[in-house]
Amino acid sequence: MLRKIHIISILILIITAASICSFAAEGEPFCLYNSEIVTSNENATYIQGEVADAKGQTIVVKNVRGVVAEKKVPDIGGKYVFRIKLPKSVIRKSKITSFAVNAIDANDEKVWTSCVRVEYKARKDQDIDLKEKEVELKFPGDDKAVEAASSAGLDLSYSSSDEDVVKVDEKGNIEPVGEGTAEVKVNQSNDPEYKDVTKSIKVSVKEVPHYTVRFHLGRNAADLAKDEEGNSEAAESSDDDTVIEQQIAVGDSAELQATADAKGDYEFLGWASSETGYPAYGNADEVTDLAGDGETVDLYAVWHGERAQEAVDWAIALAADNRYGYGQGTFKCNICGLMPKKQYTCMPFLAAAYAHGPRDPIMLAGGKHVINLNNKNFSGELGQIWEKVGLCKNLSIEDLEPGDVIIKWSDHNNSGHAWMYAGGDQIVEAVPAKSYANQIAVKSGAAAKLRRYGRSEGTPSKNYVMRYRY
Ligand SMILES: [Zn+2]
Repeated sequence: MLRKIHIISILILIITAASICSFAAEGEPFCLYNSEIVTSNENATYIQGEVADAKGQTIVVKNVRGVVAEKKVPDIGGKYVFRIKLPKSVIRKSKITSFAVNAIDANDEKVWTSCVRVEYKARKDQDIDLKEKEVELKFPGDDKAVEAASSAGLDLSYSSSDEDVVKVDEKGNIEPVGEGTAEVKVNQSNDPEYKDVTKSIKVSVKEVPHYTVRFHLGRNAADLAKDEEGNSEAAESSDDDTVIEQQIAVGDSAELQATADAKGDYEFLGWASSETGYPAYGNADEVTDLAGDGETVDLYAVWHGERAQEAVDWAIALAADNRYGYGQGTFKCNICGLMPKKQYTCMPFLAAAYAHGPRDPIMLAGGKHVINLNNKNFSGELGQIWEKVGLCKNLSIEDLEPGDVIIKWSDHNNSGHAWMYAGGDQIVEAVPAKSYANQIAVKSGAAAKLRRYGRSEGTPSKNYVMRYRY
């Protein structure tokens, strides 16, 4: 008799519960987030909901046989979200099961009531179709793409048993990284409709004779050296040279892998074979036998603007050194030890800045660093490393880059002046001055001086701006 009453009360509960707990509205004292549960995992099926005013009530879950789970909410006097695990034994695989969910207060009185329907759906079988179960690769050598598909058409995931032998990315590309054998697992899991499945590929990697290319990205380049996951691969301190390595098999033709576009404001121009050299390779250039087995080749990124900035820095440092001053009558460089006094005229000072700042090989050759002010002298070898930006009359300060050389030429006496743009409104120059007998200095007024060169000083139709190419 007792049992019969119990069943009836649960049936009534189910009818009323549908209207109580079908949604979780704002301010509802007690509600369930999931009153209709479809589960394929009897080991992890949860009833979830919230109590608007938690004061130590007990949430009790019952089926027709009695209490199956319960949880006491804390006495916090506010919203409390609960999660109650249903025991595996109460989830029936062939039927929908209903549970009453009651909140009972400290006086054992039922304060709120709701219900849950749980439907169990077994997951279906699936398979992974694998084209090759064994793969042989060489290191260094090409990646190998796994050819695999889930019979259910679901996405696959990949993992390597030994990342010192092979790495595998999220698309299933296997990258050989060292000699040995490893397993690549192809996995499909956690789908609500299909059972988990795993297949594996045996990979063996044989090391072949190879050389190493070391790509030097220079200072402040740590951000550029990221792996596929976005982790920095190289230097941590921005002052360190950032280096990326690539191994290439002897006899193979391979693309250079390091790619660089820009470092801050500096645009990438190419890879040079020495620290001060000019670009010899572009990104992804195809190369063959740059070196022999076990050897290393160093390539250096050339960033347009970085070397010009080094010239500016050198010129500013020299301007701050009181031992140096302005001196006419020679084009020789006293850093190179060819002058009795520490003096520069205007253009040899700027040429020395490129010779001794970024150590440009053409500017450094011979220790003279001669550039004449007349622009036809930027031909030949100098034309390889300098380009004409334009005439001063057509340019404004926004058109200039630090390190640009601004040149005034007077036709009537075949003389002139040259100064270096140092960024902002700054000029660095070696110039004779009345109040300072010998002056190499940094000063402001670059914009105004550029305008005067375009309008009134020298021969305005000829005054021009030169820029270092690298
Ligand atoms: Zn010199």
